[in-house]
Amino acid sequence: MTQKKLKLKLKPKFKKILLIIGIILILLLVLFGLYVNKRNALSSLGYSDKAIDNIMKKFKTSYVEEQGENKMLNAAFESKDYQEDNLENYAKIEYQDQEDIVKNVNALLEKGYKTSEISLILSRGSNEDVTEFAKREKVDYLEEFLSVDYAKLKNYDRYVAYQDLENEDAETTVLYVNLDFDKEDYVDPLEITEFDQYVLVNKHRQLTEDYVPDDLVEFKEEDTKVDETVEATEEVVRAFEEMKAAAAKEGLTLMVNSGYRSYQDQEEIMQIYLDAYGQNYVDNYIAKPGFSEHQTAMSIDVASATVDTFVESDEYSWMMDNAYLYGFILRYPRSKEDITGYKCEAWHYRYVGKEIAKYIKENNITYDEYYMMFLDK
Ligand SMILES: [Zn+2]
Repeated sequence: MTQKKLKLKLKPKFKKILLIIGIILILLLVLFGLYVNKRNALSSLGYSDKAIDNIMKKFKTSYVEEQGENKMLNAAFESKDYQEDNLENYAKIEYQDQEDIVKNVNALLEKGYKTSEISLILSRGSNEDVTEFAKREKVDYLEEFLSVDYAKLKNYDRYVAYQDLENEDAETTVLYVNLDFDKEDYVDPLEITEFDQYVLVNKHRQLTEDYVPDDLVEFKEEDTKVDETVEATEEVVRAFEEMKAAAAKEGLTLMVNSGYRSYQDQEEIMQIYLDAYGQNYVDNYIAKPGFSEHQTAMSIDVASATVDTFVESDEYSWMMDNAYLYGFILRYPRSKEDITGYKCEAWHYRYVGKEIAKYIKENNITYDEYYMMFLDK
């Protein structure tokens, strides 16, 4: 009897506690569910766990969800440099994979640049270039130069100086400065360390002494007009043979006088001319070692089997019309001496592949220009 009484007494209290615990548990579950749901939503928009932590901590979940996928916002929320006041500007800036992007964006906003200008700045340089640029005072002709696709942030001052001097339009100015036309030939050249088939070698870009192509192949003896073996890369030799066969169908015989020349070959050539004609001649007509395109093994000096002065041969006329179909371009044309830095060489052809050769032919530009517009990194 006593026991029963006790039970009856405890039951309602116990029920109440259970009910409260139950409600708390359900509430917690609901909250947890909402939390997980929000995280998943942000995650599916491409935000990282670290960014999501901060987005939620700063109560910006709805704002970020409204913006949708945005790499710059993700970077901002990941960064210790995040500034609340800049949030809406971050959302408008085009992201680049740069370590200090948020810090640099803050600095550029502080200097008074618009978000569209900041997107341009970020897209035209490396992390280091942008970091340097963000330290300087606001510049005046930013969009004029940087809106050119191949403009480089680090060259900004040179663009301004060159245009001041030469009065060229912005596009030409950017192109010519990128080609180092504001520097003397052979002075302070770029040393080429990464080599591929598109390499650009000219009076401002030098190959190192130890650069030797690893796929050299000899031209057939009957294709060479000189008494020594002539070599080029495998692809160039194959392309020449294809071109030679096509010319042969029209009764013409193409040959080669020269192909790959090593750094040391070029040194010897320079010495021979130096002894015979003196320094002045060498400076004007002989490429210094490392500056000869022949070291790439992708250039050939073409000859006619029957006429010694190539420019007077039918082979020359045929090459002018057809070389591009086989991937070759006349590298130093007469009308482009100011750009290439070389007097016209009717015999010197560079292999660039069919697609690029066609573009260069149709647009009447040099390889120097093509490289700067489309291949330079
Ligand atoms: Zn040559």
